[in-house]
Amino acid sequence: MTLNPPADSHTASRPATSSAHTSPTPGRPFAVCPVDQPRRYVDDFGDARWVGGFHRHQGIDIFAPEGTRVRAPFDGTASPSSSWAGGLTVRVEGRLGFVYNAHLSRTGKLGRVRAGDVVGYVGNSGDARWGSTHDHFEWHPDAGAAGDSFRYLNAVCKAPAWRAIPHRWLIA
Ligand SMILES: [Zn+2]
Repeated sequence: MTLNPPADSHTASRPATSSAHTSPTPGRPFAVCPVDQPRRYVDDFGDARWVGGFHRHQGIDIFAPEGTRVRAPFDGTASPSSSWAGGLTVRVEGRLGFVYNAHLSRTGKLGRVRAGDVVGYVGNSGDARWGSTHDHFEWHPDAGAAGDSFRYLNAVCKAPAWRAIPHRWLIA
C-alpha cells in the first residue's frame, strides 16, 4: 500500500506563466496596486458608516498623502464623474468588472488606459473634505454589486507593483 501525497494547492493555484499579471483572472483581478506609496489601508469593507445616512461601506479606504498617484489596476476605460458624496471620482471599466476611485484631488489620464496608467490623484473631495486624504476604492466584479477587494489589494500592494507577483510566488 502506498501513501498518496496531498495535492499541492500552492502549486495548483499558481498562475502558469508570468503573463498572468497582465491577463487578469477572477481570482486575481488587479495587476497593479491602485495607489502609490506611501499608503495604508485595512479591510473596512462593510463597516457601518453614517455620513449621508447609515450604510455599509462599499469600498476600502486607501489612505495616502494629497496628490499620491492613483493607477488603473487593469487595462480598461477611465471616466470621471463627480457627486456630493464621492467628490471627484474616476471609474475604470475592465474586462472583469470596474473599480471606482472617490475623493480625488484631480484626474489623470482618461479614456483608454493600460494597467498602471495614472488616472487620478488622491485628495479629500466630496464628503471626505473634513477628513484625511484617501482613495475610496470600490471593486464591482462583473459590473455588479461592490465586493470586498481586500485580498486582491494585498496581492498587488504588499510590495512595489513591479515586484508584487515575483515576491508572492516566492512565499507561496
Ligand atoms: Zn470609503
